[in-house]
Amino acid sequence: MNSEQTVNRRKFVKLTLGSAIAAPLLAGRLAQAGGHLPKLEESDPQAVALKYKHDAAAVDADNFKAGSNCANCSLFQGKEGNEWGPCGIFPGKEVAAAGWCSAYNPKA
Ligand code: SF4
Repeated sequence: MNSEQTVNRRKFVKLTLGSAIAAPLLAGRLAQAGGHLPKLEESDPQAVALKYKHDAAAVDADNFKAGSNCANCSLFQGKEGNEWGPCGIFPGKEVAAAGWCSAYNPKA
């Protein structure tokens, strides 16, 4: 490996680590400032994998319990009464308060 490849590798690692750290921080700042993140699409591969739906009534999953939704999930970071908010499972996106996914964890 020559010195130019070493420098390029270092740049790549710095950019990758910087992005990995900056994205959640930016998401948190946007949420605190009242800004909005893009809404999670139901077609997002991670959303599909976790059976996410904007409307919990549309969920077809064995572990779904009636009455559970994002608004009463411990991972929902939206404010009380907000229709959309950030979620710890989908960083950089907002999920619907009326939504649900298979990572649902009821608030204590
Ligand atoms: S983890 Fe909770 S808040 Fe996030 S999408 Fe799933 S049910 Fe909604």
